[in-house]
Amino acid sequence: MARKKKITKKFIKKSAKAHPQEELLLQPLRGTRDILPQEQPYWQQIRRVSEKAAADFGYQRIDVPILEYSNLFARSVGEGTDIIEKEMYSFQSRGGEKVSLRPEFTAGVARAYIQNGMNVLPKPVKLYYIGPCYRYDRPQAGRFREFFQFGCEAFGEQDAILDIQMIQMAWRILYLLGIRNAKVHVNSIGCPACRKNYRNLLVRYFESKKQKFCFDCKRRLETNPLRILDCKEDKCVQVAAGAPQSFDHLCDECRTHFKEVLEYLEELEIPFELDPGLVRGLDYYTKTVFEIYSESPEDAKNSALGGGGRYDGLVKTLGGENTPAVGFAIGMDRVAAEMKKLGARAYREPKPRVFLAQLGGLAKKKSLKMFEALERAGIMIAESFGRGSLKSQLKVADRLGVEITLILGQKEAIDETVIVKDMTSGNQEIVDAARVVDEVKKRLKK
Ligand code: AMP
Repeated sequence: MARKKKITKKFIKKSAKAHPQEELLLQPLRGTRDILPQEQPYWQQIRRVSEKAAADFGYQRIDVPILEYSNLFARSVGEGTDIIEKEMYSFQSRGGEKVSLRPEFTAGVARAYIQNGMNVLPKPVKLYYIGPCYRYDRPQAGRFREFFQFGCEAFGEQDAILDIQMIQMAWRILYLLGIRNAKVHVNSIGCPACRKNYRNLLVRYFESKKQKFCFDCKRRLETNPLRILDCKEDKCVQVAAGAPQSFDHLCDECRTHFKEVLEYLEELEIPFELDPGLVRGLDYYTKTVFEIYSESPEDAKNSALGGGGRYDGLVKTLGGENTPAVGFAIGMDRVAAEMKKLGARAYREPKPRVFLAQLGGLAKKKSLKMFEALERAGIMIAESFGRGSLKSQLKVADRLGVEITLILGQKEAIDETVIVKDMTSGNQEIVDAARVVDEVKKRLKK
């Protein structure tokens, strides 16, 4: 057994010197933040509307871990991407495993799909998720290091109708949240076969102009030339403007697929534009890619509210069967900010209709059970048990604008009754405590 060290004053002093306390910074880490109660109605509205839409379109919820093996993301998002190269929170666990905080959900959901044998389920397998993601990016307006996504993935269907259903859902969710000026940017980056040809064409075009590139794009020319197309640096934007466009170089199958997507978009009357610079920062995409922007004039192009696309090769890359798939994610932080900016309706908690006031020791004790009985009966009830005086409790009831106040005093507690006060007429009546739920229900119905 280990010998216990006697804790003397001298020992404490010595150990404090050896382990000086770091200063406690009372603030969250850069790029992360608290979402305070006053912000929550926007978030609650986003959760409610998104989850309702997911259920309406036949999606089931899946939760996957925040922490996964690093190589899951490296293999799916892609080694040469900004997310993997610069933005992942990666570390070694105490057990020596290389792990990362998820920078996005698709990789984890695809891993869960394979591992749990969901390939035997009727297709398409439709899943949705909601939760935090982590990217060590430079924080700025609308860009956080911890941010929240809601998203959907559908596995096992290659028809373009599903690509469009994803766009329809994302657009509809934003519309229902009051973002009525959203516009879809859409592109097709083809399948690995046509992308190879397109990539060669691009490299040939970019090679002659590489001296004009920013530092990152010089590197991207070797590792991921498609990403040069969505670089935001002015000089790179200028070069990219003259570059060959992917939808002009699609193979027959990809061209037909993309044509269908555009036809369906027109059919749905969703505002959209073809965006040849849209390549998305993740390697697993194939064919359709899209992003949704709010069209308010002051919105910079780099703040998409959501995005997604097809990723027909990902499940196979991770060791599963050949499984076409498509998905999208909405950035909840940006959507909440946009709702606020547009003055969109946030969620309103249902207001309490009844207030329970108490006076005296016995009444206070009994009021706990009475509160529970009313709450169990589904009655929206409020209290302010901590306040001693009846006057101050009634003030709270007034402020809340309840229809009925129940008053449980010392006498009522002994008699097992309660005073029922109609707040509109001011009339009071004494009823048996055992009948209080029925009495309140009857009055509220009126
Ligand atoms: P992505 O997986 O990069 O396509 O992201 C999907 C959506 O998540 C984007 O359209 C944004 O709305 C949101 N998003 C991505 N990165 C961030 C970030 N760093 N901070 C806030 N929202 C983000």
